[in-house]
Amino acid sequence: MAVPQNRKTPSKRNMRRSHDGLTASAHLECPNCGELKRPHHICGACGFYAGKEVVSVVDEIDLDEDAA
Ligand SMILES: [Zn+2]
Repeated sequence: MAVPQNRKTPSKRNMRRSHDGLTASAHLECPNCGELKRPHHICGACGFYAGKEVVSVVDEIDLDEDAA
């Protein structure tokens, strides 16, 4: 395995880490329901996009429906 011959100075280490910062994820409020959603994506809470319902959202799926 390659081993570095010389130790990096704190300045070089910090210059390398200058790109390691995290950026906040983009999000905005859904104009239909007010939940936070990603821009240019269907709202996960209400299924709306561009003022229209694109997918229907089911509150709860009853998995024991066939068991009865
Ligand atoms: Zn919504």
